[in-house]
Amino acid sequence: MTEPTRLNVAQQLDTLKSKEQYRQLPSVTHQDQWIICNERRLLNISSNDYLGLGNETQLQSQFLSYLQQMPDSVLPKMGSTSSRLLTGNHSQLPLLEAELLDWYHLALPEKQRSTCNKAVLVVNSGYHANIGILPALAKLPVKTLILTDTLIHASLIDGVRLIGSKHTHCRYQRYRHNEMEHLTALIEQASDEIERIIVVTESVFSMDGDRADLQALVKLKASDPRIELYVDEAHAVGVLGHNGLGLAEETQTLEDIDYIVGTFGKAFASMGAYVICDASIREWLINQMRSFIFSTALPPITHCWTRFVLAKMPSLSNLRTHLAEVSLRVSQAINTDSEVSYQSPIIPYILGDNASAVQKAQALQQAGFYALPIRPPTVPVGTARIRLVMNAKLSTEDCDRLIEQL
Ligand SMILES: *Cc1c(COP(=O)(O)O)cnc(C)c1O
Repeated sequence: MTEPTRLNVAQQLDTLKSKEQYRQLPSVTHQDQWIICNERRLLNISSNDYLGLGNETQLQSQFLSYLQQMPDSVLPKMGSTSSRLLTGNHSQLPLLEAELLDWYHLALPEKQRSTCNKAVLVVNSGYHANIGILPALAKLPVKTLILTDTLIHASLIDGVRLIGSKHTHCRYQRYRHNEMEHLTALIEQASDEIERIIVVTESVFSMDGDRADLQALVKLKASDPRIELYVDEAHAVGVLGHNGLGLAEETQTLEDIDYIVGTFGKAFASMGAYVICDASIREWLINQMRSFIFSTALPPITHCWTRFVLAKMPSLSNLRTHLAEVSLRVSQAINTDSEVSYQSPIIPYILGDNASAVQKAQALQQAGFYALPIRPPTVPVGTARIRLVMNAKLSTEDCDRLIEQL
């Protein structure tokens, strides 16, 4: 390491510390729904394990015995050893993609099933999906305007950045969070030369837990043939919709969304992601999506576990209902406004300045809850918060104990 690196890294880390923006890896041990941290057992209300499947030892043992029944020759391997385009396209992957498409068809209104021309592509993670899809779409020589919600996930922002300046036929603007009027105005102002407008949003927003109005977006799309919709369902998959396909299922907008991204790292308690899109777009992505082409496929054993969870996913609506109940209970306690409706398991408890958020998180930890402060730049300045994240394994009593502390 050179002297300038050594001096600057020390200085810059100090700056982060003084702004309370310094990040550290917590050392934690998991025990069912608890986190063991500094020798104390705290109830985990910070993970994305919305259905609690990540800690279900019984489910894991079921999976392991399922593997043990397989002949050694077909046991899914622990590593794929190359990109899907080389030798990494192990048999688990086409099976998983076919089953995801079945799941999608199951969630579609019946009359749309026979005409559906969608296909599924599985990629290594939501991050890979979001940094790869937009740049691949931008390689089509189409005059494009990309309109993104201001609160989209960092991976989508990076996807826009990776389009790069050489694609001058692509422009990019942001619309204020969930403000349909602003979005509509930007579309109306778009010049006639624009041939394609890609609207990019999350369905459930990761830091605020609120929902995009997918039905309004679909209506907007119907008003202008240039519009395509790109929806990241990372926090809604497994959580919303009767079969767990997300907010698009719940709002019956599946068919109208051009690019649905879902991930397996959260409610699925696995790893990986998928995009559901037109079959020809899937081919284009295989040819042009760099994060797909230049990365080793996930281990077949991981895809096998994802398939195992997927097979159960449609039948877990009792967990989804319970999750909705406990989430609503806590958000009603925080928002005295009686109109609160269920948005998602993510409940922002906004405290304002960084110090208050840190203090409150400490107090919650003292009281036995593994709560973490979220500060700028992850969220806007002045909205430091505790992100309370519910999961289906929490009991009503757990929630009431939490509410007492808020
Ligand atoms: C978690 C998340 C991702 C990233 O997915 P990974 O599979 O963890 O890489 C993408 N988008 C959103 C909205 C997320 O919350």
